Amino acid sequence: MKSLFAIMMIACAICFVSFTPASNPLHVDGKLVVHGHGKRACTFEVVVKGDDKVLANAKIDTSGHFKLSFTPAGEKYFDFFYIDSHHAADTIFLRSYTEFESDQLEETFYTYKGIVRVDEDDHVICPKCKKSDTVSALEGLPGYYYCADDRIKF
Ligand SMILES: [Zn+2]
Repeated sequence: MKSLFAIMMIACAICFVSFTPASNPLHVDGKLVVHGHGKRACTFEVVVKGDDKVLANAKIDTSGHFKLSFTPAGEKYFDFFYIDSHHAADTIFLRSYTEFESDQLEETFYTYKGIVRVDEDDHVICPKCKKSDTVSALEGLPGYYYCADDRIKF
């Protein structure tokens, strides 16, 4: 009787695990390469949002490294942003993920955009939805844009 109970418990546990979408914590070991802030003492923070909800955030150290972890729970998008203490009101988009290949992510992000992608009509393309008709230039933050669809600044 005891062993039957144990088997049932194990079976329940297996069922539970198999029906729970990938719930291992994801550990991010990242670096944020900051450009154009040589003489200004800004502090930077990295924020991860899953479907618009903040999942984790971390301050970057003096060499640009940061570590954070969160547990994905079936979100469609995981968006990485940074906040510069000089423009604290603006959370700037870095990159979007839809899935992670393992529970470790090592990634280098850049606060500057090498190239702003434009479409055939020279309109800036949103790095998340890849559309240009929802993108407008940000007032007060030259060189940055806003996507109304994703509600992100980049
Ligand atoms: Zn967009």
